Amino acid sequence: MYICRNCGQRYMTDEAVMCVNCQAPKGMGNQFCPCCGSQVMPSVRICQNCGVDVVDYGYGTSNKSKVAAGVLGIFLGCYGVHNFYLGYMKKGFIQLGCILGSIAFMFVISIVMSIAEASYNEGATISAIILSLADIALILGIRIWAFVEGIMILCGKINRDGKGMLLRS
Ligand SMILES: [Zn+2]
Ligand SMILES: [Zn+2]
Repeated sequence: MYICRNCGQRYMTDEAVMCVNCQAPKGMGNQFCPCCGSQVMPSVRICQNCGVDVVDYGYGTSNKSKVAAGVLGIFLGCYGVHNFYLGYMKKGFIQLGCILGSIAFMFVISIVMSIAEASYNEGATISAIILSLADIALILGIRIWAFVEGIMILCGKINRDGKGMLLRS
């Protein structure tokens, strides 16, 4: 059983992903407990009446492991591996695309730089150095982003898979 957190209407089936009464997607809203339907304060996480976690209730457990996802994020995260594993395909492709793009770009810059040096073109050499530094910063940024996601998964700040199910610990 699931009760709309926005309007308090009971869902006809657990599989419903949207409230047919108020059109709010499942999980949206903060007025009602999804388990017992009593009114809760918007900031409250645990229902005073029935004791469930009002945010996590009713989502089921994913077959994806929190530890596996977190470790993947920390070590291979810049390739988006943890996001592919969890089913966040879009985010995974952004990370993979950015990292492969910046590696390819670095390769191009190194060719340009060697040509510029060979022809004693100082301006071009300096531009190439600046571009490669920017590229290194981008790679570092993606690595930090993925690392932070890995940590957030391990400490439960990210606790859902791409379908919204709770990760198993
Ligand atoms: Zn509703
Ligand atoms: Zn309740």
